[in-house]
Amino acid sequence: MTLGPSAGPPQAGPHPLGGSTGGTAGRGALLLGCIADDFTGATDLANNLVRAGMRVVQTIGVPSLPVGDVDAVVVALKSRTAPVPEAVADSVAAAQWLRAQGAPQVYFKVCSTFDSTDQGNIGPVAQALMADAAGDFALVTPAFPENGRTVFKGHLFVGDVLLSDSPMRHHPLTPMTDANLVRVLQAQLRGARAGLIEHRVVARGVAAVQERITTLRAEGVAFGIADAVTDEDLRTLAAASQGLAVVVAGSGLAIGIPALHGLQPSAQAAQLPAPQGHQAIVSGSCSSATNQQVANFIAAGGAALAVDPLRLAAGVDVAAAALDWALLRLAQGPVLVYATAEPEAVRAVQAQLGAQRAGELVEGTLARVAAGLVQAGVGQLLVAGGETSGACVQALGITQLRIGPQIDPGVPWCHAALPAGGLHLALKSGNFGGPDFFTRAFQRL
Ligand code: ADP
Repeated sequence: MTLGPSAGPPQAGPHPLGGSTGGTAGRGALLLGCIADDFTGATDLANNLVRAGMRVVQTIGVPSLPVGDVDAVVVALKSRTAPVPEAVADSVAAAQWLRAQGAPQVYFKVCSTFDSTDQGNIGPVAQALMADAAGDFALVTPAFPENGRTVFKGHLFVGDVLLSDSPMRHHPLTPMTDANLVRVLQAQLRGARAGLIEHRVVARGVAAVQERITTLRAEGVAFGIADAVTDEDLRTLAAASQGLAVVVAGSGLAIGIPALHGLQPSAQAAQLPAPQGHQAIVSGSCSSATNQQVANFIAAGGAALAVDPLRLAAGVDVAAAALDWALLRLAQGPVLVYATAEPEAVRAVQAQLGAQRAGELVEGTLARVAAGLVQAGVGQLLVAGGETSGACVQALGITQLRIGPQIDPGVPWCHAALPAGGLHLALKSGNFGGPDFFTRAFQRL
């Protein structure tokens, strides 16, 4: 992650991404500053804020360009599993930049399954952010009931099971084998204490939560894991934590924040410039949802070209051939270039090339295809796959995205200003989106 120069005077002026900023333009200082520990988590949070009425820009790392007149900025980092010192340094740089833009609160967005290890990075980053903001208490909750994440008596549930009984217990990098978040967070803290804000307190409302925070503070507790099992609980917690310099949460807590600033859900918050140019899809996800979406697009008569990783390994310039193929068809409607394959085919490729080499070859090729398509006049691009999205965003030189309307849960249309003009972009992580996502997405613009 390359970090741009940090801190500068609050930025005002016209929106650099172009288009209308809606009827609430002109406020200037940020209402909320967010730091997400991974890219798709940043989009998830931005999407929730936009749905609740905020105008949001997501940046890749700390911005080096002004972000324009928006209510919130979500700085996407790659810090979830980075070495602790790097995660801390990147996060503090982001927080300082956000505060320099006037953000009164820093929202540290973590995974809704609290992905971390005994070393971190949630605890060390949260401690560093609080020290940097000279705060003495942070509310912590990964709850997001709409997505099946609830916290009760400090224990995180994934759907109907405890976190420690969910598939997350087998995660290759951050295996979560304890559902008791007070214990999990405490293990990551150095010289600070974690405590609990129980559901019976949350259920009594904002004043009760604030009273509990005062008690915890007096006891020397600096981090309060907060129970939440409903959206109403999240709204109570958002209101009770409004005066705190730092909150640590999944994307759920965000649903209660825009209303605290007098904002309501509105089409204007999600308004993007008018779509232009040709439509294309680049797909490198092999998830079952994406396989279904590819099959659905082809069955509906869509123009599609498969990329064979073995031909890439043999040195064939598949990207150039794919672009030649696509350019002939762009005028007729969306084209799809995909490496998406069923698990059996992926295993066969990986057996020959190794999983990492196969992945890199495919990502590099699809990123070249994406860049070539945009150069050839594609103005509406859909990318399927988390890693694939990262590769494409990098190849396109995108550092900022204005967040627009949601297509399916967790996947909004975004807009990026590029030297060649505006680009509408939807970045879909593997399992997101309904079966007809590839056709329906374009109708949503
Ligand atoms: P998801 O969000 O579904 O996990 P990603 O893009 O993050 O999707 O990851 C998919 C990975 O699989 C990428 O590294 C991609 O390059 C790789 N890949 C895509 N198609 C194939 C294929 N046919 N064989 C092997 N690897 C593939």
